[in-house]
Amino acid sequence: MIVFNNVSKVYPNGTKGLQNINLTINDGEFVAIIGLSGAGKSTLLRSINRLIPITEGDISIDGTSVTKASKKELRTIRRNIGLISQTFNLVKRSTVQKNVLSGRLGYYSTFRSIFGLFTKEDYDKTKQALASVGLLDKLRSRSDELSGGQQQRVSIARALVQQADTILADEPVASLDPITSQKVMQDLKKINKTMNKTIVVNIHSVQLAREFADRIIALKKGEVVFDDSSVNLTDER
Ligand code: ADP
Ligand code: ADP
Repeated sequence: MIVFNNVSKVYPNGTKGLQNINLTINDGEFVAIIGLSGAGKSTLLRSINRLIPITEGDISIDGTSVTKASKKELRTIRRNIGLISQTFNLVKRSTVQKNVLSGRLGYYSTFRSIFGLFTKEDYDKTKQALASVGLLDKLRSRSDELSGGQQQRVSIARALVQQADTILADEPVASLDPITSQKVMQDLKKINKTMNKTIVVNIHSVQLAREFADRIIALKKGEVVFDDSSVNLTDER
């Protein structure tokens, strides 16, 4: 459970990123954050794992304060949160397998990560994750030989092998065409339903948010202007 308690973010230059946000995201929810460019979607998403530090209030996950966490506690928190971004962040010249395997480093302790040693289990988990996004046949392909949609699905697989309970997706379909966007959203939905992962996704398209998310949070100038089941979102706003 992710809880925002009176959260505000003021950037050093005075820009208000978030204003007095109160919300609770329950385990297993599929939440879409919508809003115009500059509304605060990215700030909200990235404050969950403290990639962006907030300036007021508190964010907690399962009762542990992210805001007050020590560096060590923050590492533990981040290990349990997978991240997917608009630009995929794959190592382009590397194979699909290597890219997904790198997600396992997020699962282990730092000590283990330094050595980058992989076990049979790591390779098995990698194959499982690729199968679940329909890309097992691309295991040995170079990442930059894949289409945009396929690359995004590789990044989803990488988040899966981390075995995090929560996945944050910052504009995961912003650079994809409509049909590919649908497919990527379907994959996220499948992961949400079959693996019971909490998914929070920033998305520009209201249609996609409505179609795939259970709940929609709309932001305007850093404030929540709508927070309800996606079926209750009207068009007037
Ligand atoms: P587009 O066709 O470019 O997606 P829309 O008119 O559908 O434009 O939406 C423009 C922006 O306004 C979107 O980023 C969306 O998140 C936001 N928006 C649209 N409808 C709502 C609504 N009911 N509540 C809050 N924000 C909305
Ligand atoms: P969105 O993801 O909805 O496009 P953002 O969260 O990126 O919105 O931005 C929210 C507001 O904070 C915007 O006014 C934006 O210009 C501002 N902002 C974002 N990042 C910074 C930054 N590093 N420094 C100053 N202002 C920023």
